Amino acid sequence: MSLLEVRGLEAFYGGSQALFGVDFAIAEGELVALMGRNGMGKTTTVRSITRMLRTTRGEIRFDGADLTVLPSFRAARLGIGLAPEGRRCFAGLTVSENLMASARPGPWTVETATALFPRLGERMGQTAATLSGGEQQMLAIARALMTNPRLLILDEATEGLAPVVRQEIWAAIARLKQGGQSILVIDKAFSELRAVADRCVILARGQSVWSGMPHQLTPEIETEMLGV
Ligand code: ATP
Repeated sequence: MSLLEVRGLEAFYGGSQALFGVDFAIAEGELVALMGRNGMGKTTTVRSITRMLRTTRGEIRFDGADLTVLPSFRAARLGIGLAPEGRRCFAGLTVSENLMASARPGPWTVETATALFPRLGERMGQTAATLSGGEQQMLAIARALMTNPRLLILDEATEGLAPVVRQEIWAAIARLKQGGQSILVIDKAFSELRAVADRCVILARGQSVWSGMPHQLTPEIETEMLGV
């Protein structure tokens, strides 16, 4: 059984439809890359899965449970941890407070999270507002891990970061994957995504239009569907 299964997902912002049929699944321990050009529906798919956006049709099953019928707080507690686009750390809270605010029992603790991102460990007393963009992204990922999620979702994992920091984030993602963490990741750095992904799913105009292993992603598909 898949950990996450999305079938025929449609989503609406008021009267305007943003998703028109998204299908994909994530197996336990798998890293799936959700790809597509700007505005194709990646973030809307994430909002639908996390139930921040509840005006959806179709199926979203997590560990067999139908998320669409659960209140959003219950859906969150089932074990989906999100590092959202734009990071959204608590700016006025310290690194330590940000981490503690999302802590739930499990192997991810302040110690293990700061072992993954040693830079955070050096800045525990600093407020999130004073961190660099890369450090804020590390904090956003660490916060999501502190919920001890069964599925980790990273929306725009490295957007706007310096190349050297991006590499640190990709290295951390690779380590998480090696540790067996199930991950859904969105990023515009397609070559790095391909290098780390088990499977890629491409969205175009609110629909999933291609899915396959990274090596099956040909230059023709990239040009046609990703505009690379
Ligand atoms: P990007 O890479 O630019 O973040 P995306 O693939 O994540 O793009 P979405 O943000 O999911 O795409 O947008 C999908 C569609 O939904 C777009 O047409 C967008 O304009 C629309 N949309 C997104 N957020 C809202 C909103 N809050 N209200 C109305 N429409 C929205």
